[in-house]
Amino acid sequence: MEKMHYQSTRDRHVSVSASEAILAGISAEGGLFVPERIPALEKPMSELAALDYKELAYEVMKLYLTDYTEEELRECIRLAYGAQFDTPKVAPLKKADQAYYLELYHGPTIAFKDMALQILPHLMTVAAKKNGAREEIVILTATSGDTGKAALAGFADVPGTKIIVYYPKHGVSTVQEMQMVTQKGANVLVAGIEGNFDDAQAGVKRMFTDPELIGRMKQAGYRFSSANSINVGRLIPQVVYYVYAYAQMLREGRIADGAPLHVVVPTGNFGNILAAYYAKRMGVPIDHLFCASNRNKVLYDFFETGVYDRNREFYLTKSPSMDILVSSNLERLIYEICGRDDEECRRLMKCLADEGKYKITEEMRENLKDFRAGFATEEQTIKAIKRTYENAHYTIDTHTAVASSVYHYYRKETGDKTKTVIASTASPFKFARDVVLAVSPDYAYQSDLEMVDTLSQFIRKPLPETVRSLKTARILHNTVCSKEGMQGVLEDFLGLK
Ligand SMILES: *Cc1c(COP(=O)(O)O)cnc(C)c1O
Repeated sequence: MEKMHYQSTRDRHVSVSASEAILAGISAEGGLFVPERIPALEKPMSELAALDYKELAYEVMKLYLTDYTEEELRECIRLAYGAQFDTPKVAPLKKADQAYYLELYHGPTIAFKDMALQILPHLMTVAAKKNGAREEIVILTATSGDTGKAALAGFADVPGTKIIVYYPKHGVSTVQEMQMVTQKGANVLVAGIEGNFDDAQAGVKRMFTDPELIGRMKQAGYRFSSANSINVGRLIPQVVYYVYAYAQMLREGRIADGAPLHVVVPTGNFGNILAAYYAKRMGVPIDHLFCASNRNKVLYDFFETGVYDRNREFYLTKSPSMDILVSSNLERLIYEICGRDDEECRRLMKCLADEGKYKITEEMRENLKDFRAGFATEEQTIKAIKRTYENAHYTIDTHTAVASSVYHYYRKETGDKTKTVIASTASPFKFARDVVLAVSPDYAYQSDLEMVDTLSQFIRKPLPETVRSLKTARILHNTVCSKEGMQGVLEDFLGLK
C-alpha cells in the first residue's frame, strides 16, 4: 500500500510518518499534523456493513496508519475495543424521537473520548518502538472534563509513559472531577488550575513548544506527547464510528445504500465533527454536518459570518465539555478550505494568537457549504432532555441535548426529513443532576452522588461501574495551581528542578 505522509497545517513541507505524527503530538512550529490526502474507502458500504466494530476500525485506520503493520494495528484495535466496552457493538445506534442517537459512551469513562483514548496509548507505545524513541513519553493534557479521565484511564500504568492532566478547577461537574482526582496509577498526576479550559489548553501548548523546557526534559530522559485532539491519533479512530453509523443504518435496513444522512455533533474543540467531515470525504454519504454549540457559540458565529472571534464573554454552562472559545481542531478544517495553503493558515492562526480573531475569504466560505451551524441556550438544552424523555422514554445527557435541540429546531423550520444521526457524547449518569432536574424541576436537593442513584431509579438502569466506584474511592490528587504555575507542577512531578 502507498505510504501516507503527514504534513503540518503551518508548514506543508513537513513530512512525517503516521507513527511519528502520533508520537510527536504537534508539529515543532506549532501546526497540527494532517494526512497529505484524505483516503477513499476501499470497500463498498454494503460490504463494510457486514463487519463488526473492530474489523471496520481496521479497514478505516489502515488507510491512514500505513506504517503500522497489519498485526500491530489489529492488536491495538483488539486491546482498545474489548470488554472495557459494555456492549460488543461498541457504538450502538438507538432510534428515538425522529433521530438516531449514536451512543459513543459505552467505554470505561462513559464519554465519547474513550473511543479514541482507549486506543491512543497502544498506538503511541507501538510508535515509540518503531521510531526507537528511548525517552519516556510524558502526556500533557488539558481537559474540559471528559478527556482528562479518558486519557488517565487509557495511560494509567502504561509502561514508558507518564501523564499529567490539567483541568479547570471550577469548570467541571462533580462526577467529572471525582473521576479524575481518584485516578490510581504510579505514573499519573492531576492538577486543577485557577482558570478555564482555554487557559489550560494554552498553558499546555506553551510548554509543548518551549525549546528550553524540551531541552531540559530531554536531558532528564523525557519527551512530550499529547492526548488532546490536536494529536492526529485521536482524530483517526473517531472517523471509524461515522463509517460504522452509516454501515449500521444500512445493515438494519434503516437507510437505502447511498441515500444521504445528516450528522449532528455537539461541538467544543471541533475534533468529533472534524472526524465526521473526514468520513464524508472518504465517501460516506453524509449530507449536512451540523455543528451544534452551547451558549459559547463562537463556532456558530464563525459559520454564520466567516469571522472567528474569541474576544467575548466566556460562560460556564451545563455542557462543560463544550465550554471552549478556541476550538483547536478548526485549524485542520481551515487548512482544507484554503486549499492546503500553509502560509495562509499560518497567517490566520497568527491573527488568532495576536488579536483573538480572524476572517476567512468568501472563497473559503464556499468550501464550508456542507456545514450547518446551530446553538442551544441553557433553557433549550433542558427542554431537549425533557422532550426526548417524554416523547421517547430515552434519556440524553446535557451535551447530546445541545445537538438534539439544534436538530429539532432545524427539522421544524425546514421540514427536512432526511435520516439523521446525532452523536451522543456522554452517558446521562455523568451529568445526573441536570438530567434529573430537566425532567423533574422541583426535585428536592441532593448531593451530586445521590442524584446519580435518583437517575438510576428514574430510568431503571444500573449505575455504570465508573460512577459506582466513586462512592468508595479515595481522593489521591489535590494539586491546585495558577495558570502561571502549570509548568512548576510539571517540573515537580518529573523532578526537573
Ligand atoms: C469533548 C466533548 C464534546 C466536544 O467534542 P469536541 O471533539 O471537543 O468537539 C462534546 N460532548 C462531550 C460529552 C465531550 O466530552
